[in-house]
Amino acid sequence: MKHNFNAGPSILPRVAIENTAKAILDLNGTGLSILEISHRSKDFQAVIDEAVALFKEVLGIPEGYHVLFLGGGASTQFCMVPYNLLGKKAAYLETGVWAKKALKEAKQFGEVVTVASSADKNYSYIPKGFSVPADADYFHITTNNTIYGTEIHTDMDCPVNLVADMSSDILSRPVDVSKYALIYGGAQKNLGPAGVTFVIVREDILGKMERTIPTMLDYRTHIKEGSMFNTPPVLPIFTLNETLKWIKALGGVEKMYEMNVKKANLLYDAIDNSKMFVGTAEKESRSLMNICFVMKEEYKDKEDAFMAFSKKHGMVGIKGHRSVGGFRASTYNALPIESVQALVDCMAAFEKENA
Ligand SMILES: *Cc1c(COP(=O)(O)O)cnc(C)c1O
Repeated sequence: MKHNFNAGPSILPRVAIENTAKAILDLNGTGLSILEISHRSKDFQAVIDEAVALFKEVLGIPEGYHVLFLGGGASTQFCMVPYNLLGKKAAYLETGVWAKKALKEAKQFGEVVTVASSADKNYSYIPKGFSVPADADYFHITTNNTIYGTEIHTDMDCPVNLVADMSSDILSRPVDVSKYALIYGGAQKNLGPAGVTFVIVREDILGKMERTIPTMLDYRTHIKEGSMFNTPPVLPIFTLNETLKWIKALGGVEKMYEMNVKKANLLYDAIDNSKMFVGTAEKESRSLMNICFVMKEEYKDKEDAFMAFSKKHGMVGIKGHRSVGGFRASTYNALPIESVQALVDCMAAFEKENA
């Protein structure tokens, strides 16, 4: 039995994978694979329509917003956001490598103000008490910092348009979408396979730029064409839709949140009560999705041994990102609590033998 703690691409609901496998062999008894039909066929149109409708329903997206499924990854959004929204000035919160990459792209389009940064402590916390300039076109945040295991847990009030990269915590908790002007993310952390990027955008923020925007990078193109201006990532959208069905059937984002809190508490408690392990993120900034920990100084030389030990016990993907080191357990929606318990047991067994 494998326990899949991969950071992304990462674990998906088993039923979503099984239904994708079936659709690859034969989509709805058509005798054709999802891989070999037109994206404009009525069979696929039904899939993307359902995915848009379910996304709106499950996340509670109000009127006036569009849901898009695009290619290019979250990384393309780093430039698409300023292309479409940055007239003179934008504000960014620098909470990690992804935030920094987004900020760097924005600089090509205008003035960028870094309102706060947690770089001084290797991004181990979410800065507080910053103020956003009232004349910024938008304020960009990364709600969950996948590499460092920190997360913004609330939907902040913001004096300007709030833009969020939610790649690694989308649908992990209820979100008040009305507080945001635009939300985007790669699907491959919590929603589906790699290859599809979701964008939730409030229509009234668009069409305000004087510059010419390349057709493919203009949100209005994709709104007008229902994400079908060009060929969308057909198969990833199919799986994403299956994941959305699974979330809804289990009880929606409230239920996801409840399960995610339980899983995170189980692992954080084990870390906090351990002689050997210690968490790397400040407690109040800790992520529910990516749980980062290292060995205490006196046990540092045992990290490789624990990697090998945990691997033997079925743990997959717990190696920390190279910029933090140690371990990272990603506990996305689809990860069962039994896997977290298995990791906790594994840590206790290792500690018993080695501490
Ligand atoms: C993984 C990740 C990205 C990059 O996504 P791509 O789809 O690979 O471009 C961006 N932001 C966050 C927060 C991520 O976790």
